[in-house]
Parts: sequence; structure tokens; C-alpha cells
Amino acid sequence: MTKDLALPWWQDLTPRQVARLAVEDAVAVLPLAAIEQHGEHLPLSTDLDIGLGLLRAAAPILRPDMPLCVLPPLAVGTSLEHSAFPGTLSLTPETALAAVVEVGNSVARAGIRRLVLFNSHGGNKAVVDLAALKLRVGHRMLVVRANYFRFAPPTDAIPAAELLHGLHGGALETSMMLHLAPHKVRAGAIGDFHSLGQGMALAGRLLGPEGEAGFAWMAQDLNPGGATGNATLADAALGARLVAHYAAALAQVIEDARDFDLSTLAGHGPHWEFRERSGGAE
Ligand SMILES: [Zn+2]
Repeated sequence: MTKDLALPWWQDLTPRQVARLAVEDAVAVLPLAAIEQHGEHLPLSTDLDIGLGLLRAAAPILRPDMPLCVLPPLAVGTSLEHSAFPGTLSLTPETALAAVVEVGNSVARAGIRRLVLFNSHGGNKAVVDLAALKLRVGHRMLVVRANYFRFAPPTDAIPAAELLHGLHGGALETSMMLHLAPHKVRAGAIGDFHSLGQGMALAGRLLGPEGEAGFAWMAQDLNPGGATGNATLADAALGARLVAHYAAALAQVIEDARDFDLSTLAGHGPHWEFRERSGGAE
């Protein structure tokens, strides 16, 4: 747990310290994860471990003048697609959306106007999109949708087909876990977990689980064991490289959030162009 000391946790602050962060125009990061099955080789905490691992690797490479705080992670996300597997905890999308928005509202209430939703679970994407928009509608606030798996991957680290189809517990996640939390990986259960999507892509279909046209899937539709991807390609050195790569991207996103010109975000009420016609006040 000593590693946690590297992160400037929100919950370690006092009200006066939070008020000072608001004056310093700090960036707040909200980690969003999942507690869900990742096959038999990885623990339920995989997405949480990866998200916090990337944050811990990003924090020391931020420029030193960066006022930053990390909100308590929302460890449980929307994992309906994994709900047939024992151990998966899931919020409904409605509950998850409300939770993210209500935490964001609290951050705005503290006077902080730069919020990065840092998500490490694919199933949370839609919630991240909607929560960011709802928070923007409610506040003159920058809300960033940062899904690490949407950051460009390092070139040549993982074969393209594996990046496309190894969605869950494949080479990417297994490598990062072998680097971040090797004691949690059950090496004997590592395998090549074929995905339904691979066959569809080989048959030339545009339709696939995450194809150009996607369909809603349950994890067991893609592979009965719950994991998809070739975890035999994983190793700790690759994991270290992936963590460094995605952490560098995350650090840049946080710095970009800090540099963003908030005056470009319009205030509330009708857009200025329509005010005169509608007789709206300032
Ligand atoms: Zn995962």
C-alpha cells in the first residue's frame, strides 16, 4: 500500500486544502474501473489494478508544477456483459451514470473546473460519454473522457489482430498484470482464448462484437471461458512497456486538461447568437 503514497488522494485532504486546489485551478482525476471476471488467469480486480497502475506511473512524470488530485476510485462499474460469471459486481448503467455525475457535481461544488474521467473498463465507455456530457450541461467545466484503451497503442508491441480481438484478459491486460501485480496472475491458467469476433473478421464480415457494426454481447458469447485474446503472448517486459506507454499518454492528457482554455466553454443559457432574437438576458 506504500505505493499509494505516490498519488495525491482527494480523501487525504482537508476542506481548506481542497479550496486551495480550486484556487490553483487543479485537475481532478476520477478513476473508473470494474470488479469483474477476467477468466481464470486474472483476478476480478484486473481493471482496477491496471487503472491505478497507470495513474501511479503517470504521476511522477507530470510536470512538477501540476496541481492534481485523484478522487477515490469508483471500483465497481457497469459489467452487465460479465454478469453470468460468479464474482462480477455490476451497477446498472443508470446507477453508474448517476454515481459519476454526482461525484462530478461534488467536484464542481468545490470549485474545481477540470475533471478527467479516467476509465480502464470497456463496458464503462457509454457511461463515461453520457456522464461527461451531463456534467458539462450542468457546469461550466472541462470534463475529459479518457479511456486508456482508446489511446493509440505502442507500435509493434502487440499484433494488430490481437489488439482487435483480444478484448478481455488477452495479451494486453495479462501483460500489464504480469508487470503490475504478478502475484495475482495464475500462470497455469493462461491460454489462447479464441473470440467469436476472429472468425467473423476472417469471413469478411463488417459485423463483429466490436466491428464496424457491432452487436451487444455477453462475455460467454465470445468465448465460454469469459476471456478473449491470446494471453500466451503476454510477459512482464511487454507489460512494463505498455504501462510506460499508456502512462505517458495519460500524463499528457492530464497536462492538456490543465492547459485547456476554460474561457472557450460557453456559459449557460441560450447560445449568444440566438439571444437577441429570443430576447434572452445575459
Ligand atoms: Zn479488463
